Amino acid sequence: MHALIQPNPGMFGVTHHYDLLLIGAGHAHLGVLRRWALVERPPGRIALISPGPVAWYSGMLPGLLAGRHSAADCQVELQALCRAAKVELIISPVEGLSAAQQQVQLGDGRTLGASWLSLNVGAQISAPPQQGEAMQLLAVKPFDQFISGWQQWQAKPEPMAILGGGAAGVELALALAGKVPQLALFSAGHLLDGLSPGVRLRALGHLRQHAVEVREDCPISRIDNDSLLSGNAPVWRGQRLLLASGAKAFAWPVHSGLGCDERGFVLIAPTLQSYTHPTIFAVGDCASLPGARKSGVYAVRQGPVLATNLSAALRGLPLKRYRPQRQSLALLATGDGGALLDWHGYSAGGQCYGRWKDFLDKGFIQRHRF
Ligand SMILES: Cc1cc2nc3c(=O)[nH]c(=O)nc-3n(C[C@H](O)[C@H](O)[C@H](O)COP(=O)(O)OP(=O)(O)OC[C@H]3O[C@@H](n4cnc5c(N)ncnc54)[C@H](O)[C@@H]3O)c2cc1C
Repeated sequence: MHALIQPNPGMFGVTHHYDLLLIGAGHAHLGVLRRWALVERPPGRIALISPGPVAWYSGMLPGLLAGRHSAADCQVELQALCRAAKVELIISPVEGLSAAQQQVQLGDGRTLGASWLSLNVGAQISAPPQQGEAMQLLAVKPFDQFISGWQQWQAKPEPMAILGGGAAGVELALALAGKVPQLALFSAGHLLDGLSPGVRLRALGHLRQHAVEVREDCPISRIDNDSLLSGNAPVWRGQRLLLASGAKAFAWPVHSGLGCDERGFVLIAPTLQSYTHPTIFAVGDCASLPGARKSGVYAVRQGPVLATNLSAALRGLPLKRYRPQRQSLALLATGDGGALLDWHGYSAGGQCYGRWKDFLDKGFIQRHRF
């Protein structure tokens, strides 16, 4: 567990007070707002804080890159959703949090205080240490920066490597394979670790068909000018590296005084409350709870429990417990309109699964449009 670093009490200035601040338009908060738009919202002054006016839906990003969706197809407009839920929308990133004082510092200089806080800010992408500037790095998150960076790269295609052998790395490789002259995919362990062996073999088949060079069990330890090194051995040379590797916690929650795990993710109880500060909830990738994986599916499932618990907290009622599901359905886009399915150790692939994935993804966006 991280040592609790207490923020400087003088760090934050004038405060506007809210009953509840929802920080980040992640999957669970979208679900909370939808529920409050459709059913009764709890009493009090409530706001959502987001760096931008839209929330991107990561599940459709590979389809956007493959040219199968437009950017608008993959976004939820927050103003309309907030208006329907009777929640204020504040556009600015949170840059600091004092758990003890229940205050947040915004990028625009404002300081807000709240009786209750809820964090659903996701995570950033980790990068290996880099020496020299010969290699350009592009992280898949935040999505708007990634999309504009990719558009610049696409204007002048060059050989590229992708770091990350999880579902995101595989989907991106299959979406981008035909768009760059050479593509290599690096996985620290086996490709799609945690999914069934069958889906890994199917993915390897698709990647081979698209001439993607796959390097499994090849953790990248550092970048030295135009070389990727595994241990001390150079394993790839080039000038473009797309980062789709593991989730890395943002620094500001770690420095907030909230109890975090050894990787910096907020430790939460089954009620989704911080263990150290029960007036602060945390969900999705930024939270740490045994059994809950860092994936959109888990963040979505936390939404209904979070909505119930935030309403109960504001009314002084008892809270419900969230229990992570043991299995989750994975549908991986293959870049050609098809998808690979992984469910309970069973794997399959084809165009019909791609249509199913499109149906589920478009349904998610539609559910949050008001
Ligand atoms: C290419 C790709 C494809 C993926 N496909 C799938 C998939 O098909 N299925 C699946 O289950 N998972 C998928 N994932 C994983 C998934 O994206 C994450 O696990 C999921 O988005 C986590 O959800 P979340 O609600 O925790 O946060 P996010 O969905 O990441 O949302 C966090 C929100 O917080 C906001 N935010 C960030 N910092 C701040 C700040 N300082 N202040 C205020 N707001 C802030 C962000 O703008 C964002 O809106 C994919 C990931 C990638 C990269």
